[in-house]
Amino acid sequence: MTVISSNLGYPRLGEKREWKKTLEHYWAGKIDEPEFHAETKALRLANLKKEQAAGLDLIPVADNSDYDHVLDTIAAFGIVPERYGRFHKRLTLDEYYAIARGTKDAVASEMTKWFNINYHYIVPEYDQPHFELLDNRWLRFYKEAKTELGIDGKPVILGPISLLKLGKRNGDYLDAAAVDELLPQLLPLYKQVFTELAQAGVKWVQVDEPTLVKVATDAEVKPYEAALNALRQAAPSINIELQTYFDSIDPYKAATKLPVQAIGLDFVHDNGENLQHVLNDGFPSDKVLAAGIIDGHNIWTSNFADKLALIKRLQGVVDNDHLWLQPANSLLHVPITTKNETKIDPVLLGGLAFADEKLHELTVLTKAANEGQQAVSEEFTKNAAALKALNESEHRNNAEVRAAEANLANETFERHSAFPTRIALQHKKLQLPLLPTTSIGSFPQSKLVRSKRAAWRKGNITDAEYEDFIKSEIKRWIGIQEDLGLDVLVHGEFERTDMVEYFGQKLTGFYATQNGWVQSYGSRGVRPPVIFGDVAYTKPITVKESVYAQSLTDKPVKGMLTAPLTIINWSFVRDDISKAQVQKQISLALRQEVINLEKAGIKIIQVDEPALREGLPLKKRNWKPYLDEAVYSFKITTTGVRDDTQIHTHMCYSDFEDIIDTISALDADVISIETSRSHGEIISSFEKTHYDKEIGLGVYDIHSPRVPSVEEIQANIERALRVIDVHQFWINPDCGLKTRQEPETLAALKNMIAARDNVRASLAEPTK
Ligand code: GLN
Ligand code: ZN
Repeated sequence: MTVISSNLGYPRLGEKREWKKTLEHYWAGKIDEPEFHAETKALRLANLKKEQAAGLDLIPVADNSDYDHVLDTIAAFGIVPERYGRFHKRLTLDEYYAIARGTKDAVASEMTKWFNINYHYIVPEYDQPHFELLDNRWLRFYKEAKTELGIDGKPVILGPISLLKLGKRNGDYLDAAAVDELLPQLLPLYKQVFTELAQAGVKWVQVDEPTLVKVATDAEVKPYEAALNALRQAAPSINIELQTYFDSIDPYKAATKLPVQAIGLDFVHDNGENLQHVLNDGFPSDKVLAAGIIDGHNIWTSNFADKLALIKRLQGVVDNDHLWLQPANSLLHVPITTKNETKIDPVLLGGLAFADEKLHELTVLTKAANEGQQAVSEEFTKNAAALKALNESEHRNNAEVRAAEANLANETFERHSAFPTRIALQHKKLQLPLLPTTSIGSFPQSKLVRSKRAAWRKGNITDAEYEDFIKSEIKRWIGIQEDLGLDVLVHGEFERTDMVEYFGQKLTGFYATQNGWVQSYGSRGVRPPVIFGDVAYTKPITVKESVYAQSLTDKPVKGMLTAPLTIINWSFVRDDISKAQVQKQISLALRQEVINLEKAGIKIIQVDEPALREGLPLKKRNWKPYLDEAVYSFKITTTGVRDDTQIHTHMCYSDFEDIIDTISALDADVISIETSRSHGEIISSFEKTHYDKEIGLGVYDIHSPRVPSVEEIQANIERALRVIDVHQFWINPDCGLKTRQEPETLAALKNMIAARDNVRASLAEPTK
C-alpha cells in the first residue's frame, strides 16, 4: 500500500515553443490540417513520454489543447455561439479557431483571466444555449496515450459547474439560478462522455471544479453534488478525482462529502487553510486525498524538508493508499525546463524548478513518503545545499535594502498637502486647457522599432546607434503629438519591450530567463521576469528618455513608470520572504526614480497599476490586506514629490465600484481607467459614488484596429460629462497604443481631438 504521484496537466508550448509555431504556421497557411495534426500529435506524445520517464504513477491525458482548455470544452459540447454557425459534428480546425480569433463576419469570443493568474481562457457564451456532444476528445486522447505509449491515463475534464460559472449570458456571468436552469441540458452530454470512457476501461477521471474555491456556503455546494451524482450513475466503474486549486475550500465538510473517490486540494495557495481543515475536521477514510504540495504557478525549488513535514502531517490523517502527491495546480502555468537556462548563475539555477524539475521533485517526495527520507537522502542533501546557497548569497542579503525596509515602520508616506491644495498649485503651474487631453503612454512598436531592437540585442548595431534611433522615434512622435493637438505629451515607450521586463533589467534582484516561456493566451507566450534577490535602485531607469522628450517641446511631458504591484503580479516572485516585503523593496526603488524625474524637470509622472484588479485574491474576505498593501506601496512610490508635481496612475479594466475606496486612497492626482469593455458600467457607477480627484475615462477602445468616428468618441465624452464635472475630466484612449499600427493610431487620435474640440466648443456656447 503506497502513496502515489500524480499530475494535473503539463505545459503545451513545447521546449522550443514548437506548439506556438505549429499554430501560427497553420494560421498563416504554411501547413495544412493533416500536417497540423501530425505536429501536435508528435508534441503531445513527447510530453507524455517525459511524464512517463519522470516516473509519475498517474499521468493526465486530454490536458493538451489546440488553443485553450475551456474552448476545447465549448467545442466538444457544441456550445458554439450562433454567429459562427450551427454544428452537428466535430469542428474543423478553422471552425474551432473562428471562436478564438474571430472571422471577417463574426467577432471572436471574449477572453478573460483564468482565476487570479496570468492565463486567459475563452469565455463560453450561453445567450442562445445549444448543447450537443460533437467530440468525445477525452476518449480520443485516452486511447491515443494507451495505444501509442501504453499509458493508462487519467482524462482531465473541466467540470460542468465550472464550465457554466465561467461563462456569460447577455454579458453577465451565470448566477446560481442560471446554472440550475442550464445544468439539466448540459449533464446528459457529460454522462455520455463518462459512459464511453467507462466502456474503454478508464479507471480515473480528473474533474476540475476550481470554482469550488470561490464558494462560501454549504448550499452552494449542492449543484456540484447533483452533477457528480449524475456522472457517478452514468459510469459507476469510473473513479472521480474532484480537483480544486488556487485556494482553500471554505465549505470543507460539505465538499468532502461529495460523491467522489478522490478530492484534490491545494496546499500551496491556501494560506494554510486546507491543512487546518484536514487536521481539524479529518478526511473521509474511504476517499483519496490528492494533495497538491508542489507550487504549480511559481518556479522555486521546493524545500524537501518542509514538504516531507507536510506529507507526514497528512499521513497522520489518511493512510498511505489514500494519499496522492501532486502539484497544487496544472503545470501549464510554469515554464518547461531549467536545462535550457544556459547563461544563468548556478546559485540561482539551484533554486529554480520548472515543470520537468517539479515532476522530479514529486517522484523524490513520493519515495520519501513511502520509504522514508533515508531512501532519497542524497537528493535531500543536494536540495538543502542548493537552497542554502541561494538564501545565503549576496543576492538575498543586501544590507542597505534591508535597512531601508526596516526603517519603513518609522515613516509615513503622504503628500505634503491634501488634494485640493495640490491640484490648485498644479493648475497654476501647468496651465492646461479645459478637458486636458493625453495618451496612456506607449505608441506603436512598429516593425522598424522591433527590428532595431533585435539588431541591437544581437550586437549588429552599437549602443549609440540604438540610442540614436530611439531618440529619433521620440522626436518624431513629439512632433506628431504637437500637430495632433494633445496637451500632455509622452515619450512613447519605444525603448521598452514590456512594461515589467524593462524595469527588471534596470533594478537588481531580477533575472530575465532565456526560455522561461508560459502560455498567456492562445499561441501567445510570455517570459515573466524572476525576482530572485533583494531589489535595489542602482541607476535611473526612465529619466534620460523623459528628459530628452521634454527638451523638444514646451508642453508638459509625462514621465512613465510601472507600479510595484504590477511588477509583482507579472513576475515570478521569490518565496523565501513575503510578497509584501518584495513589494516594499520595489516601492523604495521606484520612489527614487520618481524623485529623480522631478529633479530632472518632469512635471507630471504617471505610475501605471494595470494589474491591480486582476491580482485580487479569489475570496473577497482576503481583499483588504491585498488592497491595503497596494495603496501602501503606491504611496511609498509617489509621495516623495512636491505638491505641484502631478501624479497620474492608469488602470486597465477596473470594476470601479468594487474598489473605489482603494482607487481614491492611492491619492493620485489624476487617474485614467479603461472604460469601453465595461459597456458604460464604470460611467454609471459615478451616479452612485462621488470621486473627488481628476479622472480620464478612456473615450475609445484600443483593443481593435477599428478607427472610431468623431461622433462616437464625442458621444462617449458627453456621456461621461453627464456624471463627472467637466473640470475634473481628462480625455484619453482606453490604454497604451503599443500593439496598434501607426495609421490607425493617427486616425483614431485625430478623431479623438476633433471630438474634444467639438465638446469644448459646445461648452463655450452660452446655454439658453
Ligand atoms: N503606459 C503603459 C502603456 O501605455 C500602460 C500599459 C497598460 O496599461 N497595460 O503601454
Ligand atoms: Zn491599460
